[in-house]
Amino acid sequence: MQTIDNFNFAGKKAIVRVDFNVPLDENGKITDDTRIRGALPTLKKILADGGSLIVMSHMGKPKGKVNAKFSLAQIKDAVAAALGVAVEFAPDCAKAADKAAALKPGEVLLLENLRFYPEEEGKPVGIEKDDPAYDAAKKEMKARQKEFAKTLASYADCYVNDAFGTAHRKHASTAVIADYFDADNKMLGYLMEKEVKAVDNVLSDIKRPFTAIMGGSKVSTKIGIIENLMDKVDNLILCGGMTYTFAKAQGGNVGCSICENDKLDLALDIIKKAQEKGVNLVLGTDCVAADAFSNDANTQVVPANNIPEGWEGLDAGPETRKLFAEAIKGAKTILWNGPAGVFEFDNFTAGSRAIADAIVEATANGAFSLVGGGDSVACVNKFGVADKVSYVSTGGGALLEAIEGKVLPGIAAIKGE
Ligand code: AMP
Repeated sequence: MQTIDNFNFAGKKAIVRVDFNVPLDENGKITDDTRIRGALPTLKKILADGGSLIVMSHMGKPKGKVNAKFSLAQIKDAVAAALGVAVEFAPDCAKAADKAAALKPGEVLLLENLRFYPEEEGKPVGIEKDDPAYDAAKKEMKARQKEFAKTLASYADCYVNDAFGTAHRKHASTAVIADYFDADNKMLGYLMEKEVKAVDNVLSDIKRPFTAIMGGSKVSTKIGIIENLMDKVDNLILCGGMTYTFAKAQGGNVGCSICENDKLDLALDIIKKAQEKGVNLVLGTDCVAADAFSNDANTQVVPANNIPEGWEGLDAGPETRKLFAEAIKGAKTILWNGPAGVFEFDNFTAGSRAIADAIVEATANGAFSLVGGGDSVACVNKFGVADKVSYVSTGGGALLEAIEGKVLPGIAAIKGE
């Protein structure tokens, strides 16, 4: 597989898929530029080599229509400032051939939002899946998607994918475009390489013991990951709202805690599988229960399987926090996805904080720790420890699918799988 380090971009035009889907305020000002900063190493390497850049991204969900609210023109100046060079803008991403052809080494062209074209996502528009004409519409859209990808590809000599956040999507710019470049002229960017390496550290190149912490609200959304991890981990901590589905499945009283009554058998099955595979399954024994879903609710610490009527478990209790910390501190590989409580409320952060502190300690002692998938990233940011763990993933859905063991189309397209 070609790599960005081995490739000399001198005199070449590179089309780079980045994730510039940055949050904007009501005046179109960027409120968090993490994603732009994340792509800089790749973009700068290409310019430093003497290449020119055609940068493409999506922003928001314009659903295949032009919408000024999602125009990348709003971020052009910020991209220019971050790169330290002027940036030319192409207001129609599918009609940028002339601007691309005019690019000289060291110059940058930013394309308008790819998702202004339905071809980017490749989903038929205005027709429901149960419509008899849906299959034909889908086929037609897939053909149009190929044409769209071919047009984008025609702007450049080589293709770089550095958008991990969309790597789980088979879109024109994330996967289909790769068909129009031979193996020597397509590669992953630095951010993608880092994400792939981090996932590899927890799925293949595992140093033991390996502790995975899965939290969040529901078992149902995490089941694929739990099943894939069951064959790999030594300790599996299941926390957050999931705690109460497990407690109820084992005959406990969970008051009005979040609980998936249709997943009780699944919970028992997970407990059984853990026993069969010799995985140390760590579930909460006590919890901080509240009399309302509110930061200001009254609270009491009660057993996680004996919560009074009218009360709900919103955080891990003190005994549970110790159990979690013990399973984390001795680990050499750690994966954390999902909070241990309703961390958005300051009074229910203790469980997630205990996990974060233990991960920081283990990392300082040489463990590899990967934190990713939405809310756990918000947790490490809230607690100010993002730079004290080994890697914080930039990809929500993409990371979760990778951990489930799924092949990500954006990566497969480069690898030629
Ligand atoms: P998920 O998107 O499934 O990872 O879930 C994240 C959400 O789970 C966060 O918004 C948390 O507030 C929520 N959560 C964690 N623990 C609980 C709990 N005990 N009860 C209700 N929600 C919870």
